[in-house]
Amino acid sequence: MILGLLKADITEIQVDAIVNAANTSLLGGGGVDGAIHRKGGKAILEECIQIRNKQGGCKTGEAVITTAGNLPSKYVIHTVGPVWNGDKDEKSKLLANCYQNSLNLAVENGIKTIAFPNISTGIYHFPKDKAAQIAVKAVKDFQRIAEIEKILFVCFDDENYQIYKEILGIENK
Ligand code: ADP
Repeated sequence: MILGLLKADITEIQVDAIVNAANTSLLGGGGVDGAIHRKGGKAILEECIQIRNKQGGCKTGEAVITTAGNLPSKYVIHTVGPVWNGDKDEKSKLLANCYQNSLNLAVENGIKTIAFPNISTGIYHFPKDKAAQIAVKAVKDFQRIAEIEKILFVCFDDENYQIYKEILGIENK
């Protein structure tokens, strides 16, 4: 497995699956969720509504999969990150679950390449440094990692990008 880092807009990444930092309604929202639904078109929302009708949305830490509409990826894996408040240990566990459950869904669907945004570090206010540590550890601890070829962390803001560079040991040029 190759672990990569990019500073980019995740809606432009060509991988088997991009991950969406969704909310429990699965009906779209702001941030990366808004960008994915806007660029992906209504096919994604229609599938999200079907999932919602069947299982009532998506719980925090869990993940669901749809096709990717007009996006260059094949699938979108929608996972719901925790809002940073209340029990910090519980929130950390839930954030790790987002990465692990997304990777589980990826393996179940034969996905070999996957790109993650920095889940919960926008509107949900999870501390960026802590979130990055959890994300990298969750990915490295994933049991079926050998079945995935490439995992990309896609940072949108420079602060997250610098944090990931440091954690992944990438030199500043
Ligand atoms: P959350 O509600 O989980 O915090 P947000 O979408 O508000 O979700 O933010 C999660 C992360 O996604 C933030 O670090 C934000 O900078 C980033 N982000 C926003 N738009 C994009 C995009 N188009 N591509 C990749 N990352 C994005």
